[in-house]
Amino acid sequence: MVKDSPAVNPSMREERGLRCPKCGCGHLPVRYTRQQNGHIMRVRRCRHCGHRVVTRERP
Ligand SMILES: [Zn+2]
Repeated sequence: MVKDSPAVNPSMREERGLRCPKCGCGHLPVRYTRQQNGHIMRVRRCRHCGHRVVTRERP
């Protein structure tokens, strides 16, 4: 079970709390990072099931 810690900085929450929506695995290594219209897009792939997870961040 993964609990959200209220002590965690909200800006770090996405990075730290990121889990695979399919299997819940927390091991999502970044495959590549891309900049797009001022956004940072990261494509990750779950180590466990191979599910692709795309996250977008605003600086
Ligand atoms: Zn997975």
